[in-house]
Amino acid sequence: MNQFQYVRPTEQTSAVKSFVKDANTQFIAGGTNLIDLMKMGVITPERLVDINRLPLKDIKKTATGIHIGALALNSQVAENSLILQHHPVLALALNAGASPQLRNMATVGGNMLQRTRCGYFFDTSMPCNKRQPGSGCGALEGINRMHAIFGASESCIAVHPSDMCVALAALDASVTVLGLKGERRIPFADFHRLPGDHPEHDNTLQKGELILGIDIPDAPATKNIAYLKVRDRTSYAFALVSVAAVLNIDNGVIKSARLAMGGVAHKPWRLHDAEKSLIGKPATVDNFKQASQIAMQGAKAYKYNQFKLKLGPNTIVQALKTAAGVA
Ligand SMILES: Cc1cc2nc3c(=O)[nH]c(=O)nc-3n(C[C@H](O)[C@H](O)[C@H](O)COP(=O)(O)OP(=O)(O)OC[C@H]3O[C@@H](n4cnc5c(N)ncnc54)[C@H](O)[C@@H]3O)c2cc1C
Ligand code: SF4
Repeated sequence: MNQFQYVRPTEQTSAVKSFVKDANTQFIAGGTNLIDLMKMGVITPERLVDINRLPLKDIKKTATGIHIGALALNSQVAENSLILQHHPVLALALNAGASPQLRNMATVGGNMLQRTRCGYFFDTSMPCNKRQPGSGCGALEGINRMHAIFGASESCIAVHPSDMCVALAALDASVTVLGLKGERRIPFADFHRLPGDHPEHDNTLQKGELILGIDIPDAPATKNIAYLKVRDRTSYAFALVSVAAVLNIDNGVIKSARLAMGGVAHKPWRLHDAEKSLIGKPATVDNFKQASQIAMQGAKAYKYNQFKLKLGPNTIVQALKTAAGVA
């Protein structure tokens, strides 16, 4: 049993100040990821800052969109009437994740910062540059079935496991964070990072920064949405590949398209070139197939995840068909 200190601040600035810079400190929200990692000895914090008493649970309309507090539960977001009305793809993605019990504990901030599910990261007897920088990557020549096909490096080929974040990437959300120097806003696309030479950093947060919430900008209402998650079991399993699709279709012609993939990279993977290829085109299976081929350019598989090179485009096509209501 590792000893740790435990504090429960009631306001944001004291939470940030509680984060002792040099000590091994962690915020804790729902604890559904952090506690597992602590039990397995993957992380051993000396101090936990419990943020559950902070007033960060709001889900509300703002002048430019919808704000979701970092402590809003995954289940509350998925059931919220504003989200269901304006951004139903986010509700679909949330409901595709974990289990009802976990979604009742898991928070939005914790979901964004959940760690990879790479088995070598969890196994403290194996090399892993993310867990222990410089120790090597067990997955590179090991069992890499769940791993990345985009944006990986020689240091790490892990994927980000979140479903929610794939939808938020497609919705052009932004993240507000608070540090000792004050607040700043990070576009969602820049929040998670690629591994490069420093896979120990999952994201662009500075040490001790607290996520306050996310903002999703207003967008034209559409029912042409889909979140398709392909996984080994129909529940309680992380994505092999997932796709969030948000289309605006007028008289059968695509006016705008927003697409992002999960299970394929160290961060939610936005498909800008594929989106561009669809704009102004009829919503047909042939055009969806063409977009899926564009999306897969630059993909690189490893020994055990070659199947993702086929599963990826197939999932994109199926998600687009579902979103467009095309048989
Ligand atoms: C069995 C199982 C199955 C799962 N399946 C899925 C799935 O299919 N899809 C999916 O997307 N997820 C899945 N999850 C992951 C789940 O969604 C996450 O565990 C959960 O979202 C984490 O939220 P939390 O509030 O419990 O975070 P915590 O465990 O409390 O924290 C996670 C991390 O976030 C940090 N943190 C939390 N809040 C903040 C904040 N406001 N500011 C700064 N740092 C913060 C903590 O310091 C910690 O590092 C699964 C989890 C389990 C256990
Ligand atoms: S893929 Fe990343 S998380 Fe997995 S073993 Fe390699 S360095 Fe660690």
